[in-house]
Amino acid sequence: AAKGQGKGRFSFFTPSLQADALNRLRLSSELAGVLESGQLRVYFQPIVELSTNNIFKAEALLRWIHPARGMISPMTFIPLAEETGHIIPIGEWVLHESVRWLKRWNQLSHGGFQISVNKSPIQFRSGDSADVLWVSHLKENGLSGRNLCVEITESLLLNTDETTSRKLFSFRDAGIQVSIDDFGTGYSSLSYLKKFDIDYLKIDQSFVRNMASDPSDYALCEAIVVMAHKLGLKVIAEGVETLEQRDLLLKIGCDFGQGYYFSRPIPGEELDSMLTQNSGYSH
Ligand code: C2E
Ligand code: MG
Ligand code: MG
Ligand code: MG
Repeated sequence: AAKGQGKGRFSFFTPSLQADALNRLRLSSELAGVLESGQLRVYFQPIVELSTNNIFKAEALLRWIHPARGMISPMTFIPLAEETGHIIPIGEWVLHESVRWLKRWNQLSHGGFQISVNKSPIQFRSGDSADVLWVSHLKENGLSGRNLCVEITESLLLNTDETTSRKLFSFRDAGIQVSIDDFGTGYSSLSYLKKFDIDYLKIDQSFVRNMASDPSDYALCEAIVVMAHKLGLKVIAEGVETLEQRDLLLKIGCDFGQGYYFSRPIPGEELDSMLTQNSGYSH
């Protein structure tokens, strides 16, 4: 809106940008103590098998419940935590919280529950010690690699350095599964699908959003499902908000759905009562 309104009308460094920078600076410094503050929560969003409506697994999603600012979106604080390096201890904490619930949900489902955890490239490119720890932490808690799935984005696989490849292969050796998050929004090189052992593609919600009204989005979703299945991968549609989308996804053969139509991300206690009350989840 500021564009094309004549000379002097557009100032890049606006007061609101200044406030924004200041805000980021404050949040960055608060991030240093956020784990001790007890303000972080891990929420879980069910991932549902489209053909049965059963809860198949869940994705762990961070929430920062700030006493003064309310709920701060991970879209705001994850990039800051990546810049400052705080993402490393925060990521470990997400894993510990997930394992705590996994122990219970795995029992409830007789051994087959899986939680997906997001892992940013910064976490991937840091030293190996953390990942050895992930595997041993699962084992110590009577779980196996199969109980965990790591969500990564396409950009990580574009220019894979040695550390990243080694980690991906060591995950595979430990039985940890791998999802490509936001699939379709990154780069068009698909050769990584051949090179690495990927288990799931998650169709980005921007394609799902208009699939009922936009024939190209519908075609893209369908093409992703066909390609993934030919390569032996399962497909999860993100951002499923309506019954119409759910039905279309089922029609094109998509395996799983995640979105507000099924459930928002919820505290572990809530997912726990959902899983306990209805036996409506698979495995
Ligand atoms: P993501 O991994 O692609 O997660 C899916 C996002 O879509 C989540 O946003 C989720 O709340 C939202 N979502 C789910 N269903 C719907 C729907 O039906 N409609 C709409 N409009 N949105 C839906 P959220 O929780 O705000 O997380 C944003 C991003 O932050 C995540 O995107 C992920 O990249 C990152 N993130 C969240 N938790 C973690 C974490 O523990 N570690 C790392 N490294 N990144 C995380
Ligand atoms: Mg994700
Ligand atoms: Mg996503
Ligand atoms: Mg994402």
